[in-house]
Amino acid sequence: MKAAVLVAPDEVAVVDDRPEPSCGPRDVVVAVHGVGLCGSDLAVISGRRAVPSLPWVLGHEAFGVVIAAGEEVTDRFAGQRVVVEPNYPCLACPACAAGATAGCAHRRAAGITEPGLLAERVAVPARFTWPVPADWDETDVVCVEPFTVALNAVRMSGLAAGDRCLVAGAGSQGLLVAMAAAHAGGVPYIVEPHKGRRALALRLGAGDAAGLPAGTSFPVVIETSGAPEAFERALERLAPGGTLIAVGQSPRPARLTTFALVQQRLTVRGCLIYDHPADFSRTIAMLGEHDLHPGRVLRERFELAEAPKAFARAAEIAGKTWISLPRTEETHP
Ligand SMILES: [Zn+2]
Ligand SMILES: [Zn+2]
Repeated sequence: MKAAVLVAPDEVAVVDDRPEPSCGPRDVVVAVHGVGLCGSDLAVISGRRAVPSLPWVLGHEAFGVVIAAGEEVTDRFAGQRVVVEPNYPCLACPACAAGATAGCAHRRAAGITEPGLLAERVAVPARFTWPVPADWDETDVVCVEPFTVALNAVRMSGLAAGDRCLVAGAGSQGLLVAMAAAHAGGVPYIVEPHKGRRALALRLGAGDAAGLPAGTSFPVVIETSGAPEAFERALERLAPGGTLIAVGQSPRPARLTTFALVQQRLTVRGCLIYDHPADFSRTIAMLGEHDLHPGRVLRERFELAEAPKAFARAAEIAGKTWISLPRTEETHP
């Protein structure tokens, strides 16, 4: 079976020697149709994010069709189109019991602690697959996971209708955050040094923060780039009493004075992925009710054989990159 694997730091290969996935009693096997690429994948490839072993199957933003279900699975069946929720909390610890599954200390993550999903077929826990209608465009389906991250960040920010929101960074996550902020009734503005990414954000409906009068501040700032310098500059744009949500992350320190924090009564909060099952459930319901089309952030599509190029492009281009796989489920029942 084919898969895209990391063979050494900064070296991605497509191999054809992966064993077929084995379906546990509570798993389903999914024939993968598409996988979105994001900054987490790039962190794994560069070695900034350590993985348990090499070669390592990459990818986590996957959708496809169920081709087999384990003996204890009663609510998934072959032929069902599903999106994978690629973080698997334990659902038993105090954080999970409180519904805050992003904080689960035992959480497993596809592509990071567990083998990734950029393979022809993958076994995943059935409860972490979400059925989606067959008529949804695949470009929107492949964005369900990162859009859930974006919607969660906006919800956590408390952005109110009519409020300006500064989105720092117009990588794929920043574009999705701007889209989520607009859907919440906010008015997103982007700050982004990469010309192409900034232009794409404006085309997708965000305002250009550089065009606002000097000193314009924002009740909500969402930092998606992870660059400490961008975090520092974004913090300076926060209005008194405002909230900064950090989505991007870096091990390098960012400066923050307690004087500013206290005098301006600022809230700074980290937002890590999403909680199971509430957040995916909400995203899928929302996509069913509104013409949101998060797939608008996609710019380049590659075949599985082109995975090394796809990851290289993901680091450079404006917009999101994804890999689509041929429909092989008929030949592998
Ligand atoms: Zn991702
Ligand atoms: Zn847990």
